[in-house]
Amino acid sequence: MFSSHFDLVVIGAGSGGFGAALAAARLGAEVLLVEKSDWLGGNASRCGVNTWEMGVGGTGIPFDLYKRLKKIPQALGVYSLRRHICWDDPADGPVFPGAEILIDHTKRYLDTLRQFGAPENYSEKVFRQTHWHGVPFEPEIYSAEMEAMLAETGHCTVWKNTAFTSVEVEGSQLRSLSLDNGQTVTADFYVDSTADILVAQKAGCATSLGQEPRALYDEPSAPREPTDQLNGATLIYRVSPTNDPGIEPLAADIPTECWWADRFPVASCNQYPDGGFNINSLPTIAGREVAELGYKAAYAECERRIRAHWHHTQSVFPEFQNFRMTWIAPGLGVRAGPRLVGQYVLTEHDLDAGLTGQTHDDFITISDHSKDTHGADTGAQDPNLKQPYGVPYRSLLPSEIDNLAVACRGAGFSTIGASSCRLSRTMMQLGQAAGTAAALAKQKQLTSFSDLPASDLQASLTEQHVELTWPRSTELIAYLQNEDD
Ligand SMILES: Cc1cc2nc3c(=O)[nH]c(=O)nc-3n(C[C@H](O)[C@H](O)[C@H](O)COP(=O)(O)OP(=O)(O)OC[C@H]3O[C@@H](n4cnc5c(N)ncnc54)[C@H](O)[C@@H]3O)c2cc1C
Repeated sequence: MFSSHFDLVVIGAGSGGFGAALAAARLGAEVLLVEKSDWLGGNASRCGVNTWEMGVGGTGIPFDLYKRLKKIPQALGVYSLRRHICWDDPADGPVFPGAEILIDHTKRYLDTLRQFGAPENYSEKVFRQTHWHGVPFEPEIYSAEMEAMLAETGHCTVWKNTAFTSVEVEGSQLRSLSLDNGQTVTADFYVDSTADILVAQKAGCATSLGQEPRALYDEPSAPREPTDQLNGATLIYRVSPTNDPGIEPLAADIPTECWWADRFPVASCNQYPDGGFNINSLPTIAGREVAELGYKAAYAECERRIRAHWHHTQSVFPEFQNFRMTWIAPGLGVRAGPRLVGQYVLTEHDLDAGLTGQTHDDFITISDHSKDTHGADTGAQDPNLKQPYGVPYRSLLPSEIDNLAVACRGAGFSTIGASSCRLSRTMMQLGQAAGTAAALAKQKQLTSFSDLPASDLQASLTEQHVELTWPRSTELIAYLQNEDD
C-alpha cells in the first residue's frame, strides 16, 4: 500500500476538475488530479460535447485554454448559427433538421460571451444570429492541451485510468481517499469534480436527485410534487465529408423508424474546424431511462438509436449524403445526476433576480444560460434570462465536511438552477474558484473552505481575469480583445 500527501486532491478531470487543479497548481499548491478515464476534459472531450456554448463568465481559465488552442491549426473556431428548424425561411432552402452551427471566421472570443436577452419566440432569428456564438474544438487536442497546461505548472500530478472508490471521514474533516489502484491519498483539501458528486455522497453530504417539489424553494417552474425526471442524455457522433456520396446501410436488426418517440429528435449539428459535423441529438434518451437501464445498457441502446437517426437524416435530407459517420463518442453525454444540497442552493429565484436582484456577497462566477431542460419539462414560461446572475461560493460547499468543495454540474443547484448553470465554461470557472480557494486556504493555514473570506477569494479571481460583475468592465474587454498573445 502506497500513501501520499498533497495540498489538494481533485477527483475527476472534466471541466470543473481541470479548472480546480490548474488554478491551485498555478498558485503553488501541490495538487493530485485523479481521473478514471484516459481523457482529460470529461463530458466536453470524451463524450464529444466539443462546444462551449455562448454565455457570460468564461473569462478565466477557459480564455487561457482558448488562446493556446487558437495557436494550433484546426484545433478550434468560433461559430455562428446559420439554419434552424424554427426558422422556416425559404431563402435557406429545405427546413433544417435541427440547428446548423458553422465556423465563422469573422468572430472572436469576446463574441462568444453572451446569451441573455433573447426574445422568447425561437423563430426570431436576428438576435440569435447576431449575438449567439460559441467555441467548437477538436476534443483530442483539447484534452492534450489541458494536460500540457497542468504539466507546465510543475505542481500537478495527474493519474489517469484511476478511479476514486471510498473516503475516510473524521468528524467534519475528510482524512483520506482510496483509489482503485490500491493507493490511499491524503490532502489538506479535496475537490469533488466527478459530476455525480461521488466523493460528497460517500462522505455523507446531503444530496438530491430529480426535480424538487415547488414548496421546497418556492420556484415558480418547479412541479408541485417531486419527480424522478432527469435532463435527457445524448450519445454524440461525428460525420466527415466523403467523396463517395450515398446513404450508409443500416444493420438489419435496427429499425428505420423511430421506436422510442413519435419522431426522430432534432439535432444540433456543430461544424468542426476540419469541415465535419458533430451531431448532438436533443436528446438521444431520457435521463430516467439511463438511470433505469444502467450506463452500459443505455450506451448500447443509444448506439442503436443514433445509427437509426443518421440513416433517417441521410434519407430525408440529401445534403447529409455527402458525409459519413466516422466517430461515436466513447462516453454517453449525461446532463443531470445527483446534486449537493450545499450551504447555499442556487435556484430559479437567482436566475430570475439576476445580479441586480441578488443580495449575496460571495459570487465566484456569473452565468446567463437559459433554463434548459432537454425533455425534463419544468413548465418554465420563458426560459431565456434577462440578465446574468451570480453563483455564490457557498453553492460549492457542503455543510457537513469542512475541507471538501464540489466543483462540477452536481454542485449546490436546484434542478432548474443546474439546467442553466451546467455549461462547460461555467463548470471550469467553478473549478477555478474551488482550486483558488484551496490554495489560498492552505497559504493561510486554514482547515476549512468556509473560513476563507469570500472577499479574498474574489480578489484573487479578479486578478485571474474572472468575470464577477456585469456590465463587463472596459479593462476586461481590453484583456479579452487580446486573444493572440
Ligand atoms: C449531450 C450534452 C450536450 C451538452 N452541450 C453543451 C454545450 O453545447 N455547451 C456547453 O458549454 N455545455 C454543454 N453541456 C454541458 C456540459 O458539457 C457539462 O455539464 C460539463 O462539461 C460538465 O462538466 P463537469 O466537470 O461537471 O463534469 P464532467 O465533464 O462529466 O467530468 C467529470 C469527470 O469525472 C470523472 N470521474 C467520474 N467518476 C470518477 C471516479 N470515481 N474517479 C475518478 N474520476 C471520475 C469522469 O470520468 C469525468 O472525466 C452538454 C452536456 C451534455 C451531456
